[in-house]
Amino acid sequence: MSTPFDYAPAPESRSIVDIKPSYGLFINGEFVDGHGKSFKTISPATEEVLAEVAEADEADVDAAVKAARKAFRAWSRMPGRERAKYLYRIARIIQERSRELAVLESLDNGKPIKESRDVDVPTVAAHFFYYAGWADKLEHAGFGSNPQPLGVAGQVIPWNFPLLMLAWKIAPALACGNTVVLKPAETTPLTALLFAEICQQADLPPGVVNIVTGAGGTGQALVGHPDVDKVAFTGSTEVGKAIARTVAGTNKKVTLELGGKAANIVFDDAPLDQAVEGIVNGIFFNQGHVCCAGSRLLVQESVADELLAKLKRRMSTLRVGDPLDKNTDIGAINSAEQLARIRELSDIGESEGAGRWSPACELPSTGFWFPPTLFTGVSQAHRIAREEIFGPVLSVLTFRTPSEAIEKANNTPYGLSAGVWTDKGSRILHMANQLRAGVVWANTFNKFDPTSPFGGYKESGYGREGGRHGLEAYLK
Ligand code: NAD
Repeated sequence: MSTPFDYAPAPESRSIVDIKPSYGLFINGEFVDGHGKSFKTISPATEEVLAEVAEADEADVDAAVKAARKAFRAWSRMPGRERAKYLYRIARIIQERSRELAVLESLDNGKPIKESRDVDVPTVAAHFFYYAGWADKLEHAGFGSNPQPLGVAGQVIPWNFPLLMLAWKIAPALACGNTVVLKPAETTPLTALLFAEICQQADLPPGVVNIVTGAGGTGQALVGHPDVDKVAFTGSTEVGKAIARTVAGTNKKVTLELGGKAANIVFDDAPLDQAVEGIVNGIFFNQGHVCCAGSRLLVQESVADELLAKLKRRMSTLRVGDPLDKNTDIGAINSAEQLARIRELSDIGESEGAGRWSPACELPSTGFWFPPTLFTGVSQAHRIAREEIFGPVLSVLTFRTPSEAIEKANNTPYGLSAGVWTDKGSRILHMANQLRAGVVWANTFNKFDPTSPFGGYKESGYGREGGRHGLEAYLK
């Protein structure tokens, strides 16, 4: 990509990871062969096959749920301070093996190493540390004097933050005394399988954590299993609705973390250079594969031209390419299917009359790539303003008054996050009160912390993960 100055390549070595040619399922503390078929997981940056992974069928899922049920008796009765020791041990091993985890995540997912190394993996460790701290204090969490675990949790996660979503699911479940069967996404199973090795290394009792790999069918078998007490799902709104239908009428407790179409709102008194950094972080972090991405920029009309000029200048400095290069800002799109969806919606944006712009950008010839893109002249009726693109594509709309900004921001079926950029504290509080979003960031974006709850309104799902609130989903 053309930049004001050239950087020499600075690739992180991949020799630290030892990827096996094939992986089984992690059930009852051991890797076992599945009864089903297997599938390949590839590097989205090169299309190279990384490994062959077992696809769990109904019988495999049943074996995993049985192992979790058997382990539940002892795990749930273990004093919280003892469970905490395992979680602390896991957290420390994650820190010790952080480079290995980061390289593997970037290889399998396509995200830049500077993000997997500096954001994903440290936040994963932080979640295990944080929930380890709760394990012996549950009676003080505000959910009754003697809160009890639910039992076996069936957890299904997406591909955009494979290890971080695993941590969001497993850490609170275990801290509360539940056992789990987790299904990672079919395009990114490898860090969950390395996490299984970490469970072995930490001497976690067999059956407390079980990992079943596979696609939608495996997920369906898990959430529909009659002996699962709790379903935790992160993924698309469409699959979330299907899961809600599957569990309707059962005693299963459910949390759904679904899609988003967040507004990032810039007022005319905002520090514009800082806002530009926040906009770039909001939509180009993790290739825009972020449920809470600031995919709709709402900018006050009086500063729109100035802001867009600065934004385009900044976008021209973004480096797209090898995820393992430490200089890379935007890595590979996770799969051919996701790339096709981004292309389709972007083409629709153009045909509906929005103005498309990307900086000059040379993309690698193999692998899945999409340049950072913005659309101007977007109206609320445009599909690119309404639908989640889940890629590095920003739709720009303008507004004149705060009430118009609120109306436009809330005019969406989703409600996961929002951003507000202004110099006025009173305006931040006013906007935060009016925006129907689970998280509202002020003069920043995409800030994550294990102590802070996260979750959505409307079609973005229900339930909260993270913080003290996140315990509630795993306690009676
Ligand atoms: P997806 O819904 O297609 O898949 C998510 C997971 O569900 C995968 O593991 C998949 O194998 C599994 N699955 C598919 N069909 C299933 C079924 N019928 N029953 C059970 N499991 C099934 O979503 P995706 O494409 O992997 O992820 C992208 C979506 O996830 C986006 O919409 C994004 O906004 C959302 N997401 C939300 C959050 C959040 O916290 N709200 C976080 C990350 C991603």
